[in-house]
Amino acid sequence: MAQDLVLKQRSEILCGLCSSGSSEPLERVLDVLLARGEFSWEDYLNVRVQGRPLHANARYLLDLVYAKGEAACQALTEAIRQVRPESPGLVTGTLLTQRPGLVEELQGCVDGALEVLLESGCFTHEDCGDVRLPLHTPAQQARRLLDHVSSKGESAANVVLRYVEQKQQQGCNLTAEKTTPKELLIYQKKLRSSVSAQSVFLSTYGGTDHMSLDDIYTQGQLELAYDCKDQTHLDLEDIVGPPGTTNEEADTVLVSGDAGSGKSTLLQRLHLLWARGTSLPEFVLLFPFSCRKLNSELNELSVQELLFRHCCWPDRNQDEIFRFILDHPHLVVITFDGLDELKQSFSDERRICCPTQPAPVHELLFNLLQGSLLKGVRKVVTSRPEAVGSTLRKHLRKELFLKGFSPDGINCFVKKQHSDLSVASKVLASIQANTALLGLCHSPVLCWIVSQCHKELLGCGDGTPQTITDVYLMILQHFLQHQSPSKSSASTSWIQEHLVGILHLGQLAFQGVEASCFVFDGADLETCCVTDKEICAGFLTQSKEMSHHQSLRYEFLHVTMQCFFAALYIVLSNNADRSTIAKLFELKAAGFSSSCFGPCLSPDLQQGLSESPNLQIAATFVSGLLSQRHRHLWLHCTTTSTVERKARQVVRCLHKGMQKHFKSIPQPVEGEKKSMHAMPGFVWLIKCIYEMRESNMAREVLSKLEVDHLKMTYCNIGPVECTALAYVLQHLRNPVGIELDNNSVGDVGVEQLLPCLHICKSLYLRNNNITDEGLRKLMAKGIQCDNFQKIALFNNRLTDACTQHIFHLLKTKQNFLSLRLGNNNITSEGAKLLAKGLELNHSLKHLGLWGNKIGDSGAEAIAGALEGSKTLVWLSLVGNGVGSAGARALATMLESGTSLEELWLTENCITREGVECLVQAMECNTCIKSVWLRNNPLSPEEVEEMTQRESRLIF
Ligand code: ADP
Repeated sequence: MAQDLVLKQRSEILCGLCSSGSSEPLERVLDVLLARGEFSWEDYLNVRVQGRPLHANARYLLDLVYAKGEAACQALTEAIRQVRPESPGLVTGTLLTQRPGLVEELQGCVDGALEVLLESGCFTHEDCGDVRLPLHTPAQQARRLLDHVSSKGESAANVVLRYVEQKQQQGCNLTAEKTTPKELLIYQKKLRSSVSAQSVFLSTYGGTDHMSLDDIYTQGQLELAYDCKDQTHLDLEDIVGPPGTTNEEADTVLVSGDAGSGKSTLLQRLHLLWARGTSLPEFVLLFPFSCRKLNSELNELSVQELLFRHCCWPDRNQDEIFRFILDHPHLVVITFDGLDELKQSFSDERRICCPTQPAPVHELLFNLLQGSLLKGVRKVVTSRPEAVGSTLRKHLRKELFLKGFSPDGINCFVKKQHSDLSVASKVLASIQANTALLGLCHSPVLCWIVSQCHKELLGCGDGTPQTITDVYLMILQHFLQHQSPSKSSASTSWIQEHLVGILHLGQLAFQGVEASCFVFDGADLETCCVTDKEICAGFLTQSKEMSHHQSLRYEFLHVTMQCFFAALYIVLSNNADRSTIAKLFELKAAGFSSSCFGPCLSPDLQQGLSESPNLQIAATFVSGLLSQRHRHLWLHCTTTSTVERKARQVVRCLHKGMQKHFKSIPQPVEGEKKSMHAMPGFVWLIKCIYEMRESNMAREVLSKLEVDHLKMTYCNIGPVECTALAYVLQHLRNPVGIELDNNSVGDVGVEQLLPCLHICKSLYLRNNNITDEGLRKLMAKGIQCDNFQKIALFNNRLTDACTQHIFHLLKTKQNFLSLRLGNNNITSEGAKLLAKGLELNHSLKHLGLWGNKIGDSGAEAIAGALEGSKTLVWLSLVGNGVGSAGARALATMLESGTSLEELWLTENCITREGVECLVQAMECNTCIKSVWLRNNPLSPEEVEEMTQRESRLIF
């Protein structure tokens, strides 16, 4: 049957695999087939032919699977469903092919399945009634359910298939349910429905336009904080699951990410799926909290009161339910969104262990996180990295980073936003055409704004947004004009027309940012004179409350929106204190506020840092709003002299901030290069300069920077930061080494860096998610840059396809010195092309290929190309599956009288025979200083003997 499906749905499957233009879906399907043993390594390589068009590879896959028969086809359809759940036709096809099994599974849980379908919006109450008709047997009910699902299409089919899968995996949960007291199940039902009601919609347009989370949710890039090579793709379930656990004793999982990276939405998704029973089935109860809302709880509470009052009130048997939680902590999960928005910084000084002892809410929270309260209950907390210090880190079970959308994610999100495909394609085309904007769209909140403002975006010709401020100005205009279409004439700008409202909201935002207040009640609005009309403009949204507050409360659409309004207030208000700007920039100019530097800080310094991320964002917006390009907007809103004074003040602050950094650069140790280890605060200042778009200032500031090497590792640098870095660093007077290891540069970031490549001597991009496409752009530009001589690309996503670009570089650039490509996916094919480049190159000194798969034939090609080389001094082929044939070729290379001094062959499969050749070759080679052969299959006796014969061999 599945074989039939693969045949009949061929074109749909092809479309599902190839329509994004990326090879990722195909690759992931292949991963699944390999992992399940349906495909041999040879099959895999036959499908994944580099250089062959994606469609041709996908077709070959289908042919091969079809030829293998029913089981392989079955595995394929399941793999596609896993990888591309939205693939047209496939999912409903699966319903047909797996019908007997599904009927069997569903008959015991028709009610549960109906509930899930109802909640997902796929089924109506009538549908459910129709399936449940009591005259049918359970098996008949299951069949009717499947019939209805088939007629509803793909998303319904997906919901039901996922539900059945969960049920199958749920052995432990079912036992939990069986042993769970009845009163608890009643409470669970109430909790599920209230969590579901809170999470089913994503509130966007000021409460007027609710979007279903199912319709819009797009998976973001979730990564483990500590490198875990086997774990490339993480699902929601993995947040609480075992991958990446570093401290088994601790209960708390931290998901960290920048403002707008999607942390709240991720938790919301997790809550919704739990409420539906489709995710985290092993947890019987889930309690969701928002830290910003907890700020307003001024009473002392016990942990029992906290759970029940703030999340869901048990109508009866309160004590039994709480006892269940205490007795079964492993069945309970608590989530805290936005720890960075809590007024108090984390501290573990005051211990509370008694669950009935009342305490201020933040103390309860800290004790929950460190496990003194409700030990064993899993806690998930989200935060911006800046707010997480070493004290909290000690108590973490594991940490994950949320890094916004991938390029595929951006595509998918925009398509979900616009049901009209032609609009979606236009928006995407306009994003793709402007790489600065593409960089910005990696942040979900910016991607959301950009696709909301598609009319403005498509109508603005060449002036598409380049900076974060541009994007927020676009949504400001969009909302204001949406509310009351512009009456502005030549003499009044749209800002002027809405100035009063902007100032009211601005004041609210500004005071909130200063006081770490993000939820506002009627009195707050009144103090700032915010009117009903201004509330409806769309920037404020009604606060979703789990517990029932009597009065309505409001929040800004997003914290970055609040920061933007605070910045507008600082720029436009005549009431803002003159020292405001100075205070804003003085703040963290020294740049302590980073996750990686957090641990070095004293607790005192960490105290009070929690508010700084918002002030930093506001400062970035102030820089953007005061840029020359936007000055015309403020005409007639405030005096020109005031705006100019404020702009001068910002420029002065940025100068001062940079100088402080430069002064902190230590003098180099003799013989070493002068190196600056940049703090994230430095990156923030650079971003402010970029927002201001003051290239003169960039030039002037950088004229005072004299370093040879700029180190910016672990600084959370993504494409947006790369745009700003290139904008500023291109003004450096002398060429430098730029070290960006362990960031999230990606292909888009690489493209953004190109404008500063001419002042870059060496570029370090280890561990940055760069693919062949990014490398292609880098090489094309690198060839034109005289100064560019070294590149390190360890641990990226490069394959053989990248070697053609490297070939070109080696051939053309006869002053290139160092090429490090370790831990990528280069095979013998790639090595052969590299070898051709090496033959034509007469400058390269270092070549690192550690941890690829070039094998014997690759080593032979490289050795052949390096025969007689007069420049190469260091070669690493560690961990490449090189055997004695490769070693023999390398021996011949050594005999040819090369300049090579160090040869690294550790962790290969070189036997005695290969070592013998190397020993003989070294007899007549005085240049070579060491050949590393550790971890090759040699006996201790062989090692002993060879060491005696040749002391330069290192085992
Ligand atoms: P954070 O909590 O990290 O500040 P949010 O989760 O509030 O970020 O995201 C901001 C906005 O970005 C959301 O309101 C939503 O519009 C959009 N967004 C974030 N993540 C996603 C996602 N995974 N899918 C769809 N939209 C998202």
